[in-house]
Amino acid sequence: MTREYTYGPFNSRRLGLSLGVDILPNYKLCTYNCVYCEIGPTYQVVSPEDRIKAPPSLKFRRELKDILKYVPHLDSITFGYNGEPTLNDSLLDFYKVAFDVRNELKWDKDPPLITLFTNSSTLYLEEVRERVKHFDFVLAKLDAATDKDLRRTNRPHKNCPDIDTITNSLVKLRKEMPNKKLAIQSLISKSHRDNFSSNNNKENIEQLAYLIKKINPNIVQLYSIARIPSEYFVYAIDENRKREIVKILRELINNDNIEINYY
Ligand code: SF4
Repeated sequence: MTREYTYGPFNSRRLGLSLGVDILPNYKLCTYNCVYCEIGPTYQVVSPEDRIKAPPSLKFRRELKDILKYVPHLDSITFGYNGEPTLNDSLLDFYKVAFDVRNELKWDKDPPLITLFTNSSTLYLEEVRERVKHFDFVLAKLDAATDKDLRRTNRPHKNCPDIDTITNSLVKLRKEMPNKKLAIQSLISKSHRDNFSSNNNKENIEQLAYLIKKINPNIVQLYSIARIPSEYFVYAIDENRKREIVKILRELINNDNIEINYY
């Protein structure tokens, strides 16, 4: 079987045994060009209002079914991987196929979650949140909590929203998906370059805590670079710094209902 839409399954530290689903074209399509991106530079950064129209073909259902029947212990069917999946206008159609196929099959334990990675830049659009809220588990990126950190770290398209708008859209999304799980994912990195200030700075971390408190997600996942980054001048923070940041976040957020982990 030639696979068109799926990757893996592979073991993910954050998701367990996960089957990747890519609904974007064969090139990276993203509204950001993050300095640390592990799939390389975004050659053409697109506007959050740009869309591709690539509905699921019949092959998607067949492919998913063929693979899923061999992994009755799967933890997650995970949409993401080659950019920003909400840029595909047919995101909800893909979700519905995954939902149906999952429900048709027998599982050794709880059925896998249908999970979505998003960089959060399109969530200010109501039509996008309407699609995203169906997923069982949404992992939304928020590495930068100030506009200058957003510009330096994520290098967004000029039409992307500012931090206030992104935060408000995450607050709305949280309320719109009360029975589902929302995780905020923050990748913190360091820089070798004196003239590049990474998001590992006091103002950004403290402001991040303030925004997370406002968003009130179920989970916060702090992590760092684990593969070759897009830019040579950024590198991973160490375990001690991750622990330190988690401590700062826990103290400032001060809400036992928000689980804060690092990877
Ligand atoms: S949002 Fe994700 S895919 Fe897009 S550039 Fe950043 S890390 Fe890469």
